[in-house]
Amino acid sequence: MQLLDGKLLSEQIKTELAAEVEQIKAQGGKIPHLAAIIVGENAASQVYVASKIRSCEQVGFKSSLIRCEADITQEDLMDVVQKLNHDPDVDGFIVQLPLPKHIDEEAVTLGILPRKDVDGFHPVNFGRMAQGLPAFLPATPMGILEILRRYKIETSGKHCVVVGRSNIVGTPISILLSRKGYPGDCTVTLTHSRTKDLPGEVRRADIVVAAIGIPEFVKGDWVKEGAVVIDVGINRIPDESKKSGFRIAGDVDFESVAPHCSYITPVPGGVGLMTVAALMLNTLKACKGEIYGA
Ligand code: NAD
Repeated sequence: MQLLDGKLLSEQIKTELAAEVEQIKAQGGKIPHLAAIIVGENAASQVYVASKIRSCEQVGFKSSLIRCEADITQEDLMDVVQKLNHDPDVDGFIVQLPLPKHIDEEAVTLGILPRKDVDGFHPVNFGRMAQGLPAFLPATPMGILEILRRYKIETSGKHCVVVGRSNIVGTPISILLSRKGYPGDCTVTLTHSRTKDLPGEVRRADIVVAAIGIPEFVKGDWVKEGAVVIDVGINRIPDESKKSGFRIAGDVDFESVAPHCSYITPVPGGVGLMTVAALMLNTLKACKGEIYGA
């Protein structure tokens, strides 16, 4: 069994990005600029946004963090989005999810200009992705593709079982892995909460992608010998032995699953870090006008 080391890969990507920023600077070009909007005090969101901003600093991107009160109105939040849409220095921006209950998340996502939607959540980017047109790919699935590519994992003709059908992970990765090309050309089964005999479905998989949101849900006896397991889950489990009062667990029961795998992503240190790296890659693409032109 080999660990798919998201920490190592994300450091590699950041080194590559930093070199590209140096080159841009030397040529007097525009430095990529990522902005992030965070609403309220959600503890996990604070950690994710801080990591995105830190990564920008590491690679030499410009970054802006816009903090909004938890009771901001829909209208005022849409104004913040519009400001970033029209700010020529901002190449791309994200609105950290989840948003407070009184905010219409869909309206916010739709308010972001597709050419600045570096999280790849806007339906225009989703539709373009589904049709194989140039698009900002959603950051987590894009991070998974980078892991497969950089570890040269064979995907053609493989049976991939995705567990979870969310718009940001399960559904897009099922589309991307079934597309023609590499990484792709998989035969994909998309499973969810209504799937009958989920363990039986997972047992048929050469590649498993788990994105459910239930800690340690996928068990060792569900996984075929030699399978590749990608664990997307990030769950906080109360743990009094930790200073923070919790530990992070994936959606896969690592202890029982890892011995059956050829490759597996750890949590933490796997997909999460690659999601941030993918966001950086998308921001560079936005700055260079690679998807929608300059
Ligand atoms: P979600 O809650 O939007 O979707 C979960 C999906 O799991 C649903 O489609 C649901 O049908 C399915 N599901 C729920 N219970 C099930 C069951 N008993 N059997 C089969 N399927 C079931 O979740 P999401 O946003 O896709 O996130 C999934 C996990 O990935 C979470 O732990 C989240 O924190 C994590 N996540 C990590 C990253 C990252 O960067 N690594 C990014 C996004 C989400």
